[in-house]
Amino acid sequence: MSETSISKTRKKRFRPEVNSALCKECQYCREVCETGVFESSGLFNKAGYRYIIPRHAEKCDGCMKCFTICPDFAITVEEVVDILAQSADAADAATPATAKTAVAGDPGVAR
Ligand code: SF4
Ligand code: SF4
Repeated sequence: MSETSISKTRKKRFRPEVNSALCKECQYCREVCETGVFESSGLFNKAGYRYIIPRHAEKCDGCMKCFTICPDFAITVEEVVDILAQSADAADAATPATAKTAVAGDPGVAR
């Protein structure tokens, strides 16, 4: 019987989202985000605002500045952890898994 040692590598990612119905197009999130995540959708919500979308969400570093500055509580930033399990015997057989770990900005969460 052979022994297999498993090492796990965790990599944090962040998933910013905008509630389009709450956005009032103030652009504060675009100004504060240093990685250029946000762009205008070019589409209007029911209130008549061209809402913002996180078009380049993969660039998010989780700084939470957008969440803090949005006056309309329209932004959430979710932390996601990718777990890459690697076997010492077969390092190239890594199995990716995704675990949702935290959500900041859920409606109803007091700041
Ligand atoms: S800060 Fe909030 S309300 Fe202003 S554009 Fe960004 S998502 Fe919309
Ligand atoms: S958390 Fe920071 S990097 Fe991510 S979208 Fe918001 S301002 Fe940009």
